[in-house]
Amino acid sequence: MTGKSQGKPTGKTKQLLTANDFRAKKKWGQNFLLEPKFVGRIIDAADLNKEQVVLEIGPGLGALTKQLAERAKQVVAVEIDGELVALLKDILAPYDNVQVCHGDAMKVDLEQLVQEAAGDEGASPVPFSVVANLPYYITTPIVMRLLEQNWHWQKMVLMVQKEVAERMVASPGGKDYGALSLGVQYRAEASIVTIVPPTVFYPRPQVDSAVVLLENRLEPPVDVLSEKVLFSVIKGAFAQRRKTLLNALSNSGVAKNKEQVLQVLAACGIAPERRGETLSLAEFAAIANGFAACK
Ligand code: SAM
Repeated sequence: MTGKSQGKPTGKTKQLLTANDFRAKKKWGQNFLLEPKFVGRIIDAADLNKEQVVLEIGPGLGALTKQLAERAKQVVAVEIDGELVALLKDILAPYDNVQVCHGDAMKVDLEQLVQEAAGDEGASPVPFSVVANLPYYITTPIVMRLLEQNWHWQKMVLMVQKEVAERMVASPGGKDYGALSLGVQYRAEASIVTIVPPTVFYPRPQVDSAVVLLENRLEPPVDVLSEKVLFSVIKGAFAQRRKTLLNALSNSGVAKNKEQVLQVLAACGIAPERRGETLSLAEFAAIANGFAACK
């Protein structure tokens, strides 16, 4: 570790923070990426060209945004912090292909935002990439939101906590396997691009991060009658991790009552005392189809 990286902002980021007397806000997970090498790793993994539209969540001080604007046709960036939105007007002034939206990425209709920015009204939806150094406090809900909706993203390149990246690529049975692993498996091919140390951020997070690449499968590996029911069953099964499937699903709102859970599980040949972490995606799909058929 060099003296320069002792949790102090460096280079361009430092200039921006000092010149604007800006203090990073913990409540919005503001850990700015300082190191051009890792900006480069994210940009390389996104593999953009001038035909593509990119959605960025949390542009911050624009470290990634500028590189995205250089390489993509159009960038739409959603930032919750009004102070940063004001700074970004200057930072991104040289680029005429970036639209910064002041809003909460958990609430904004991200698909609609991208489609409006792409401007092909009436034409078929424009596929897009999602690139982000995600705020830690909402990483899982944001990724789940992007996975649950059948939006037209093709690829996501995301900086997340290392532990979340491990959950994304986990297989059944392990401690990391959960709703996020299943959501990712259903929608995407996932891989970890690189591990990122805390020293390359300002302020430094407590933990290692990782860049993950999710490529939309377009054709999910299992057939389901309703994606909404599939995600409800998955989330219901893991909402109370220590509970058996019977208890977890009976309390989840997905089933009318315990009897219905027992019937659906029996029809799928799945023992009611099993727990969510032992089930494959195909077994979740079978359960979801059982409930969807009862509706
Ligand atoms: N992209 C910048 C970088 O790499 O240096 C900043 C990344 S920082 C980890 C996360 C960014 O997300 C911050 O700019 C923060 O203000 C923003 N943010 C936090 N919560 C958000 C939300 N709900 N919607 C949109 N942006 C959010």
